[in-house]
Amino acid sequence: MMKAEDQTTIEIDGSQGEGGGQILRTALALSLITGQAFSLVNIRARRPKPGLMRQHLACVQAAVAVGGGPEHCQALDAGGNAVQIGASQLRFTPGPVRGGDYEFAVGSAGSCMLVLQTVLWPLALAAQPSNIRLRGGTHNPMAPSATFLSRMAPYLSGGGPAVYALEVQRHGFYPAGGGEVHVRIAPPPDGLAAIHLMERGARLEAWAECLHAGIPKGVSGRELDVLGRALGWTQDQLRDRGLRSNEGPGNALQVVLQFEHITEVLTAFGEKGVGAEEVARTVLRETQAYLAHHAPVGEHLADQLMIPLALAALQGKVGQYWTTNISEHARTNAKVIEQFLQLRFDLKPLGSGTLVTIQNAALISDPTAADALHDARAVQI
Ligand code: ATP
Repeated sequence: MMKAEDQTTIEIDGSQGEGGGQILRTALALSLITGQAFSLVNIRARRPKPGLMRQHLACVQAAVAVGGGPEHCQALDAGGNAVQIGASQLRFTPGPVRGGDYEFAVGSAGSCMLVLQTVLWPLALAAQPSNIRLRGGTHNPMAPSATFLSRMAPYLSGGGPAVYALEVQRHGFYPAGGGEVHVRIAPPPDGLAAIHLMERGARLEAWAECLHAGIPKGVSGRELDVLGRALGWTQDQLRDRGLRSNEGPGNALQVVLQFEHITEVLTAFGEKGVGAEEVARTVLRETQAYLAHHAPVGEHLADQLMIPLALAALQGKVGQYWTTNISEHARTNAKVIEQFLQLRFDLKPLGSGTLVTIQNAALISDPTAADALHDARAVQI
C-alpha cells in the first residue's frame, strides 16, 4: 500500500507556464488523491499580485478539511506555520480523504467554484458521498461559473448517475460576493468514466440568458438585443433573468449552445464603465468563433476535463476529446498533472483544433499503474 511518508515530496514551481492559481488547485486535488506530499514555490509568480490571495487560501483550507483536518493534513509555510494570505510557498502533506458534509466560504467575492474545483475530484473518488455548501462568487470572470460546472457533470459518468449536482441558492458576483451553492457528490462505484467527446452531434437548442441584479434598468434588454440581432435568434431564445436585488449588483450574460453530445457555455460579465453592447459583443465573438468550428470541446472545458480524463485513464479507461483550442493555461495544467500521475498527455493538432488524449496508454492499461491509483485511494479510506 502506498503511504504518504514513503513518498518523496513532489517539487512544483508555481512560476511555470501560466504561473497562476490553477497550479495550486490541481496540485492540492492530486496530492489528496494520490497521497503524495508536494512543495510549491513561487506561488502565482506570474500574476500582478503574486502569492496566496484569500480565494486561494480558501482552496488550501478546503483541501485540508477534506484531507481529515489539521491533525492529518497540513499546509505549512517556509517557517513551518499554517499558511496565510501572501505566502509564496507551501508544503502540503495530504491526509485520508473522507466524504461527508462540508461548508466552505471564500470570505470575499472570489469564486467559490474554484474551491469546488479543488475538492471535487478527491471527493468524487472518496468512499462516501458528500454534501458541500459553498459561499462566495458563483459567476466570476476568469473562473468556471456554477452554470458551466453544472453542464459539465454528464461527461464524467458515461451515461450513469451524475457524479455531482449543483444547486445555486443565491447568485454571487464580484465585488459583493454573497453567493451560495449546494453540491451533492456521489462517487461512482467504479471511478470516473472515460471521456469521449469527438463530435457535437445535432444542434438541439441555443439560448442566451442574462442574469442581472441591482443594475440599471434596460441593460439586460440591450445586451440580449445585440445577441438576438447578430445571431438571428427569436424572443424565446433571449431570456431575461432578473434576480433578487440583494443578489447584486451583478450581471452575467451567458450563451448556452446545446448539441446532442456537448453543451457549451460562454459567458461575459458586465462591469462599471463597460457598455451593455460591449459586454454582448464580447460573448458574441466567442459564440461565433465556437459556431464556426467543429470541435465539440471549448477552450475552458478542455482545461477542466484534463484531471478527470487522467484519473479515468489510470484505471484503464482511456478517453479522448477534440477541442477548439488548447490554452497556455491548459498546457500548464497538463504538466502539473503529469508530475503526480504516471502518464503523459498527448496534444495533437486535429483540424484547426487539438486532440487531447493520454499518450502512454500501454502503461496505463498495465494493471500495476491502475493499482497504484487504487492503493493511493485505499490509503485514504
Ligand atoms: P490567478 O491566476 O490570479 O491565481 P485564478 O486562481 O482564478 O487566478 P487561473 O489560473 O487563472 O487562476 O484559473 C482560472 C480557472 O478558471 C481555470 O480553471 C480556467 O479554465 C477557468 N476559466 C476561466 N475563464 C473561464 C470561462 N469563461 N468559462 C469557464 N472556465 C473559465
